[in-house]
Amino acid sequence: MSEKRVALVTGASRGIGAAIADSLVAANYELIGTATSRNGADQIEHNHPGHKGFVLDVMDEGSLNAFCDEINNLGLVPSIIVNNSGITRDNIMLRMKLNEWNDVITANLNSVFLLTRHFLKPLVKQRFGRIINITSVVAHSGNAGQANYAAAKAGVVGFTKSLAREVASRGITVNAISPGFIDTDMTGKLTESQRDAALSQIPAGRMGKAKEIAAAVRFLASDDASYITGETLHINGGMHML
Ligand code: NAP
Repeated sequence: MSEKRVALVTGASRGIGAAIADSLVAANYELIGTATSRNGADQIEHNHPGHKGFVLDVMDEGSLNAFCDEINNLGLVPSIIVNNSGITRDNIMLRMKLNEWNDVITANLNSVFLLTRHFLKPLVKQRFGRIINITSVVAHSGNAGQANYAAAKAGVVGFTKSLAREVASRGITVNAISPGFIDTDMTGKLTESQRDAALSQIPAGRMGKAKEIAAAVRFLASDDASYITGETLHINGGMHML
């Protein structure tokens, strides 16, 4: 790379997003990382001196608009957009409340639409871009207790394919990465029996590491991946083979 490309990673404060941030900084990208709190944003800057951490709550329209304005005002133009942040609000269907459904769709799907739409125009102009959306194995397999999350993540896959078709001729690739069971705070919330049940489904016999997802993001962001678009890369230790 002659000039440093700017990479935006949402939810870069913890888990998979933090590993993606580490990996992209190591590959010489200029990082814009986000967290929901000022502390989290400061931590990103502390971990990556010379790079930028911002506060962003994708569920709050005001926060989203303020973040987008701040990036524009600083003249930052992300060429790599990693829509990583996400939440779960698990419940079986008979008990699932409308707010549990709406929160998960807002955080995991609407945010991908809103952020991508905001940052797309400069990518079209510069005729280069990489949009990488983090979906989930449950988008493909389904999971009892996660109808909201699986629907949102399946929506991300459809979004990825459709946008890939729209912008392929402009040098922009749009791909999804579908992690299986990765060791982060998100899976840390599971009970021991839920963990054991998940592990029993994984031929590799272990949970994935955040850095194993980050390595794939780094590849899809690179020039080497310029002919891969509309794809979903499954990284799940064999848990779900398609
Ligand atoms: P995590 O450890 O819970 O971290 C979530 C990240 O998202 C944090 O940086 C958090 O910021 C941020 N975030 C949460 N709510 C947000 C909001 N409203 N607005 C903006 N950012 C928000 O999760 P993870 O396991 O790393 O998951 C990362 C992505 O991978 C998610 O999209 C998840 O659905 C997907 N995924 C994870 C697994 C897995 O097994 N872990 C499997 C498949 C897919 P704060 O630190 O400020 O809270």
